[in-house]
Amino acid sequence: MWIKQIKVYQVELPLVEGRYSWSEGKYVEVFDSTIVEVITDDATGIGEVCPLGPFYLPAFGKGARAGIEELAPHLIGQNATDLATINTVMDTALLGHPYVKSAIDMACWDVLGKRAGMSVCDLLGGRQGDVVDLYRAISQMPPKDMARNVASYRDQGYRKFQLKVGGNPDEDIERIILAREILDRGEVLIADANTGWLAHEAARVVDAVADCDVYIEQPCKSYEECLTVRSRTARPFILDENIDSLPILLRAHHDGAMDAINLKISKVGGLSKARVIRDVCATLGIAMTIEDSWGSDVVTAAIAHLAHSTPERVRFSSTDFNSYVTVDTATGGPIRTDGTMRAAERPGLGLELDRRSVGNPVAVYG
Ligand code: MG
Repeated sequence: MWIKQIKVYQVELPLVEGRYSWSEGKYVEVFDSTIVEVITDDATGIGEVCPLGPFYLPAFGKGARAGIEELAPHLIGQNATDLATINTVMDTALLGHPYVKSAIDMACWDVLGKRAGMSVCDLLGGRQGDVVDLYRAISQMPPKDMARNVASYRDQGYRKFQLKVGGNPDEDIERIILAREILDRGEVLIADANTGWLAHEAARVVDAVADCDVYIEQPCKSYEECLTVRSRTARPFILDENIDSLPILLRAHHDGAMDAINLKISKVGGLSKARVIRDVCATLGIAMTIEDSWGSDVVTAAIAHLAHSTPERVRFSSTDFNSYVTVDTATGGPIRTDGTMRAAERPGLGLELDRRSVGNPVAVYG
């Protein structure tokens, strides 16, 4: 359990659809993912962090690797299973940069599970229900093309859809209405503007869809703008980008700023911090989509363990990023069926790194 070595791998993740597009014309064609192995004297843990390009959150691929280089000397010799100490060491050595710490924290949870002979899901609270519902993100395209993609992923079993809007408000209104027409009652539609609207544009969209069964997610950049939009609509309301720590979650709850949040593991600094926010949300009755910014098999496994150990009443949805990318980085991940997934039952994250696809480490510390 004593950390002897940290290996860092860089993996490029092309997309099955070729491109993932969201608000304000932003897109990614190949994700820059960082996978770490935390090697101890008796077990090795795996973690991953994959920012959604360099312009979604204040995070980027090279930054993850530079941050791990900064942290590594402080981590060598520490007990990987003392998660609180590991996080204190990281927070003392490097202020901020939560995403950098996420892959290390994830790998240490993997070590803890392997040492304990328990899955991370069991360590995080135990399995809740049989399966976790997934949502499918629908990349931004002309409205009719997005409706066609909703129909096609619905045929694959998905029942929750997150439309990437935050573009031209008139087109966004059309995107929402056309997609909703395809869906039955009980199927979930979310319009995620990813901070792309100004308040007046958001006001037009929420007015136009006032009678539509749709959730509005993160309409504008700032928390204050979102609060204004929230006060002007009766639609259920989700905050994502603005909720990046426990203090802002508590403020937003106090302000009645949202009905649900998107809890992204790397946005808040790893599984340890995500678990605290998850448990506070469960206590306060705030629904959650449990996910990350992006990733491959490793991130998807970590998401599955956190999501599957979350009380069903507050588990709004989750996601399987490994199905969006063409590269497999590990085997043994969650089992996916018909728009749902189940966390693996093996100890730790349950993964075996695919050494052919991750290649040689780009850095070795210790
Ligand atoms: Mg979002």
